[in-house]
Amino acid sequence: MVSTFPHTHSVDVSQIRLAIRSLQPQLVEWRRYLHQRPELGFKEQQTANFVAQKLQEWGFEQTLDTSVPLRYQTGIAKTGIVATISSNRPGPVLGIRADMDALPIQEENEVPYRSQHDGIMHACGHDGHTAIALGTAYYLAHHREDFAGTVKIIFQPAEEGPGGAKPMIEEGVLKNPDVAAIIGLHLWNNLPLGTVGVRTGALMAAVEVFQCTIFGKGGHGAMPHQTVDSIVVSAQIVNALQTIVARNVDPIDSAVVTVGKFHAGTAHNVIADTAKMSGTVRYFNPKLEGYVEKRIEQIISGICQSHDASYELEYLQLYPPVINDSKIAELVRSVALEVVETPAGLVPECQTMGGEDMAFFLQQVPGCYFFLGSANPSKDLAYPHHHPRFDFDETALGMGAEIFVRCVEKFCG
Ligand SMILES: [Zn+2]
Ligand SMILES: [Zn+2]
Repeated sequence: MVSTFPHTHSVDVSQIRLAIRSLQPQLVEWRRYLHQRPELGFKEQQTANFVAQKLQEWGFEQTLDTSVPLRYQTGIAKTGIVATISSNRPGPVLGIRADMDALPIQEENEVPYRSQHDGIMHACGHDGHTAIALGTAYYLAHHREDFAGTVKIIFQPAEEGPGGAKPMIEEGVLKNPDVAAIIGLHLWNNLPLGTVGVRTGALMAAVEVFQCTIFGKGGHGAMPHQTVDSIVVSAQIVNALQTIVARNVDPIDSAVVTVGKFHAGTAHNVIADTAKMSGTVRYFNPKLEGYVEKRIEQIISGICQSHDASYELEYLQLYPPVINDSKIAELVRSVALEVVETPAGLVPECQTMGGEDMAFFLQQVPGCYFFLGSANPSKDLAYPHHHPRFDFDETALGMGAEIFVRCVEKFCG
């Protein structure tokens, strides 16, 4: 936890901490304002307006003119915003990414700042990400002399789906000026407050989904010889799909094939004509892209053929794996160590099979996505992400802004 001042750091560094600490009440205020007004993917209009209004208050101009040191653009990939802060000295361009969207969940927290939008909730912490990014923009706008080059702060829509990172990249957020590296964080209730999860290589998994319909031939439950039982065929498929992870993927690599949905049949004495299943595939190694998909189709097709059934398969690659660059991960690690102040606060075993569309940014430029511990069981702030009682310890907001600012000063120093 950030509770003591560093003794060995230069005056500069402790000044960052003091300045960010004095911002803490605003960070909390912004986060709670956004928490009360959650919006689903690509509908983050109020959120975007709030971000733009703050940027304007701090002297940012809405313009494409790159000679204006504090500028922003709205409406990128519908509701996305980019705030750019250029110093007076030439230097590299660092991107900082935050997501803004909420989830279709009815909030069950009884807090004064609970969601005012029925059935929608910031249950993943993206309200916090937006507040942290705003705090970073505020600080950097007021300390342009402390770094060289440019910082682009990317407020992204629709991380929870269908994905705002890819369309923002397609609309050019990483260009003009060209982003050299990018960082981003996720508040993380799987880690306690005062810790940072950072690692080189894969942090989060690729996310792929499939939907499959098996077509058999229905009939009487007592006369199976006249039918092709879609349930029997599908049951074999579900089992055989497990061999992809157990027998096809290199055991050194991690992968998941989950059939999460299976629907068939109408009555105990009727053989089901069709069966529908859908599932998700996860893996870290980018080399597995296309491979699991191919094996799934081979298995479904082979089993169907052997039973005289047929199938329809729809397969979607949603997000690639989140792969961190070793140099930028090292930058984040060194900065995080200064902020958490103890090596025990750095958690390298923080991989998760969850996915994130930050992955698309990391495919374009080297970067590092990391987890900022935000759970505090003593305050009952430890529910998992996407839970109707999810909430986090807001002390983490200041830590997040401090890590971002220090990364800027180290990368663009
Ligand atoms: Zn989420
Ligand atoms: Zn999230």
